[in-house]
Amino acid sequence: MTARLLPGAPAAEALLADASARAARLPAPPHLVMVRLGDDPASVSYVRGKDRKAREVGLTSTVYALPETTPQAELLDLIARLNADDSVNGILVQLPLPAHVSEQAVLHAIDPRKDVDGFHPLNVGELWAGRPALRPCTPAGILYLLDHYGIPVAGQRAVVVGRSHIVGRPLAGLLLNRDATVTVTHSRTIDLGAVTREADLLCVAVGQPHLITPEMVRPGATVIDVGINRVPGENGGKAHLTGDVDPEVARVAGAITPVPGGVGPMTIAQLLANTVAAAEMQAR
Ligand code: NDP
Repeated sequence: MTARLLPGAPAAEALLADASARAARLPAPPHLVMVRLGDDPASVSYVRGKDRKAREVGLTSTVYALPETTPQAELLDLIARLNADDSVNGILVQLPLPAHVSEQAVLHAIDPRKDVDGFHPLNVGELWAGRPALRPCTPAGILYLLDHYGIPVAGQRAVVVGRSHIVGRPLAGLLLNRDATVTVTHSRTIDLGAVTREADLLCVAVGQPHLITPEMVRPGATVIDVGINRVPGENGGKAHLTGDVDPEVARVAGAITPVPGGVGPMTIAQLLANTVAAAEMQAR
């Protein structure tokens, strides 16, 4: 048996088509502002990808590329100006930030109504209270992908591997809100395989290539591989991207997301959907 593949592109396209249609009904195109500090190649490439996609679907996008040495106070001033600017609907500060800037101070400073990353403590609290608010993009994108492919969530035993604020924790909250029975695991979990084998729905966000092997997966389970790991090619060959899940898992799983091309496209699509949702909220 080989698992059904769950590519992100068709689900992301459906989400973007919906976001784009909703954007067209607003008085002005939703405006996303992204701020990045420094020239970390991954951050440059992520912001460029989001900017390009935003324009493609009819949003307005502005990027502030600030020097790595920008003082925290200057960044907070910029955020305050963007908060006060009615022509700005969504604000995203690309993480990670340089060491001299407090991530917490920055995330707290963004107006929760413009917090399209869903990382402001107010939005985190609303998520765990099960109330509507802007949701973190990768976890919300995963829920959309599951729905797109008709994979049930309610009543399922879901195991989340990883407890980061960006993926693991909010994903656990969203699954709980959708009536899954949720277990969260992490680096201190004893006998990880015994826990993951319980899962109908196994979501892995760790950042370790091929941590999850076939014997850790219940036959027929749905496996969502969030990991994006750059690994060097064999014998000095070209580096490539691989997930946290061993591709051999496809022999036992019922359904599995590929890496690359699985969860990745959902994250950008959800960011733009969040920007449209923020603009809709602000227009009310
Ligand atoms: P973090 O490094 O912030 O968190 C990793 C988590 O994995 C931690 O909670 C850690 O546990 C846990 N962990 C580490 N080792 C083990 C282990 N051996 N067994 C069980 N749990 C373990 O990573 P992120 O959540 O930010 O990202 C995870 C992966 O997802 C990365 O590869 C990242 O590139 C990718 N990613 C992909 C996105 C996409 O759009 N597809 C978006 C965001 C991330 P502890 O808390 O105990 O340290």
